[in-house]
Amino acid sequence: MTAIAEPQLTSRVRDFVSTDRKMLIGGEWVDAASGKTFTTYDPATTAPITNVAHGDASDVDRAVRAARKAFDDGHWARMKPNERERLLWRVGDILSERAEEFGQLEAIDNGKSAGIAAAVDTQWSADIFRYNAGLATKIFGSTVNVSMPFVPGGEFHAYTLRDPVGVCGLIVPWNFPLLMASFKLAPALAAGNTVILKPAEQTPLTALLLGEVFEEAGFPPGVVNIVTGFGDAGAALSAHPDVDKIAFTGSTEVGKKIVAAAQGNLKKVSLELGGKSPNIVFADADFEQAVAGSVAAWMFNHGQSCVAGTRLFVERPIFDDFTAAVAEAASKTKIGPGLDPTTELGPMVSQEQFDKVNAYVAQGLADGARALTGGQRWDATGYFVEPTVFVDVDPSFSIVEEEIFGPVVAAMPFDGDDVVSAANNSIYGLAAGIWTKDLSKAHKTARRIKAGSVWVNQYNGFDTAMPFGGYKQSGWGRELGSSAIDLYTETKSVNIAL
Ligand code: NAD
Repeated sequence: MTAIAEPQLTSRVRDFVSTDRKMLIGGEWVDAASGKTFTTYDPATTAPITNVAHGDASDVDRAVRAARKAFDDGHWARMKPNERERLLWRVGDILSERAEEFGQLEAIDNGKSAGIAAAVDTQWSADIFRYNAGLATKIFGSTVNVSMPFVPGGEFHAYTLRDPVGVCGLIVPWNFPLLMASFKLAPALAAGNTVILKPAEQTPLTALLLGEVFEEAGFPPGVVNIVTGFGDAGAALSAHPDVDKIAFTGSTEVGKKIVAAAQGNLKKVSLELGGKSPNIVFADADFEQAVAGSVAAWMFNHGQSCVAGTRLFVERPIFDDFTAAVAEAASKTKIGPGLDPTTELGPMVSQEQFDKVNAYVAQGLADGARALTGGQRWDATGYFVEPTVFVDVDPSFSIVEEEIFGPVVAAMPFDGDDVVSAANNSIYGLAAGIWTKDLSKAHKTARRIKAGSVWVNQYNGFDTAMPFGGYKQSGWGRELGSSAIDLYTETKSVNIAL
């Protein structure tokens, strides 16, 4: 079924959404054991796109058994690293070739710009697969010069090995559906694990298309399994006694539930959670550059970004001019559907997210904050909201303390060094921005900020080679970079008396 009639969709995307989509378990595309499906919707029009298999605990169990079989038969884990490298590289290349198709599918399922989804979400995912393809042949243990004072004998040969953890459950959110899946799949597979991917219920489609890419690339059956479903499927995966590791990206609230569920078999857990990131603009910053960068900091991906710089700290002498310029730039943003190439700000992903963002805006106004721009619902079919710049806020307001996950920023003036303690006054610690021409001030502030990523005179400066993750309640562990392999391997110490 499909109600999508946009003429700009490629024939491959049309074909993909013209039938109900099944899950990938043990190399077969299957219905949910219950036979149930759920509908996924285009947030720009609220029209249904297609139906997707509604997986539950019994489907998770089937997928875990398939992943366990594929792990235990040893074919994948013991495959020559350069063969795993070639397969992962092939996934990257297919993604690059099919970027337009992935971009369009992401645009209708999530609401984001098709152009950005192709150029950023898909091409970067392709890079992540290629980067980790390279790592498959560079997973090293070390030799250790041991003393062994309590063991008789003179000489020893001691070394470490890195083993795959085993069966990994990968649970991802809706804001960067393909990209968040790629952050996890690529290192997990490079290290020789088998996986069960659980995409978000709001945006299951690019994960399923990616399943076809794994097949096309020649992955053995059962190495990559994809179970589409809701939170109960994620909970079943987190609690499953035969899953060795959960890698989760999503809200801090669900992250805590996963930690609790993982206790049964003490499976390893890595978490990329929420944020409320400070973006600090000193008076000596390049004004134009800082305005443009600060707008992108909280509006990129419609504010539905875990690193969004939604607490904007501006040094007092430039506060009024700076916030006026940010508000003016935001008010000119072109709002529209992701398939329109001129769109700069698409819809919120769902009715629930739309209602949540509007409720925060209403609460901010009720608390006494002043909207320099925005503050109203955007009148259209689809889950669009106006970008909103709040001033006259108090740190205790919910719009300052809590993650809104929409295009809403709270701006606060600061005087000198005060800003570091104000910026660190959050349960989160995911990212931060600093804008200044003073190198020493930039370095000193970067050292004192409690966040996993600090960007100076830029924002959202991600790179596949740079580790990414959070301090405090923004998570456990670091994805990306070569150290992401650590999340998916166990270290074994081997010690031989010679
Ligand atoms: P969410 O936590 O509601 O859902 C994320 C995933 O968890 C979905 O697949 C969902 O089905 C599943 N889930 C729900 N309940 C579960 C449970 N009890 N057990 C296991 N799985 C369960 O998050 P969301 O609303 O999809 O995404 C938004 C959140 O994700 C924001 O808080 C955002 O900051 C965070 N996020 C963080 C990063 C990061 O890298 N730190 C990146 C993107 C998004």
